[in-house]
Amino acid sequence: MVTRRKFLHQTALGSVAAAMGGTVLSSCSEANTETPVSTNAPIKPLAISTWDFGMKANDAAMKILDNGGSALDAVEAGVMVIEADEKNTSVGIGGAPDRDGRVTLDACIMAPDGSCGSVCALEYIVHPVSVARRVMEKTPHVILVGDGALEFALSQGFKKENLLTEESKKAWEEWKKTSKYKPVINVEMHDTIGMITIDKNGEIAGACTTSGLAYKMQGRVGDSPIIGAGLYVDNEVGGAAATGLGEAVIRAVGSFLVVELMRNGRSPQAACEEAVARVVKKYKDYKDIQVGFIAVNKKGQTGGFSIHKGFNYAVFSNGKNEVKEGTYLIE
Ligand code: ASP
Repeated sequence: MVTRRKFLHQTALGSVAAAMGGTVLSSCSEANTETPVSTNAPIKPLAISTWDFGMKANDAAMKILDNGGSALDAVEAGVMVIEADEKNTSVGIGGAPDRDGRVTLDACIMAPDGSCGSVCALEYIVHPVSVARRVMEKTPHVILVGDGALEFALSQGFKKENLLTEESKKAWEEWKKTSKYKPVINVEMHDTIGMITIDKNGEIAGACTTSGLAYKMQGRVGDSPIIGAGLYVDNEVGGAAATGLGEAVIRAVGSFLVVELMRNGRSPQAACEEAVARVVKKYKDYKDIQVGFIAVNKKGQTGGFSIHKGFNYAVFSNGKNEVKEGTYLIE
């Protein structure tokens, strides 16, 4: 007998196969398809983040959630841990600069009531996510970019700091020797943190923050600060976040797509699979790029899927924080 869940799973695989001309190179594992949660179970706080370093973000978020704090406060505090980590070369301080040696950061945040804020190509500020939150809460706008975003941040009391660490500078100088620029992200350079949290009241919030593609063109903005592309939350349905080549995610309005698929009955896992299929369909060189999605629905079920092997994500639920290996299309 084909259960509804199996049917949906097969449907998603079917679209992946169709998008790839009929072959699914690596099938999607059933193992982490869903966290079984009875529909009547009381909502428990949960945090899900892209990549294994998301564990640290989850820890910080869960401290707040366990004390009855809001999903919004938790998600901001969670990603701030990664923004402050100098060793992480794709988020916040220590992030790889653009080809001119400028560290320009992108971030966004979304609250349960649907309000959102974003900053693009923001320089000198360690916590772009907090500036994005101020944009959401203190201005009539959603997105501020470049100098305007910096001016706003300074007016809000944020301090100007040098974000180019010695290590990142050295790597950039090394890169300059050849200056080969191919807008391709390999697995090692995928460090955007996208995070979704659910608080004890079942409210959902999300955030996404990155220094973007290493050695990008000055002024390049990826998917991460674009609401609907790098992040989307709908308090009635769930939330999703993306990592990988932003140019490909934007074409499919990836995170919004994942949430809409969940609204239409897909599990978070099936929704991520179908969104990757859509990305692949719209990007002919998909074999050269990585894109991954994470998702969680209102019931606390989670999922993650990417084009290539190597994508993982961290889920903190039921008192346990753990890394899950995402399933993928290509070995
Ligand atoms: N999505 C980010 C961007 O395109 C990069 C990444 O996640 O690796 O800017």
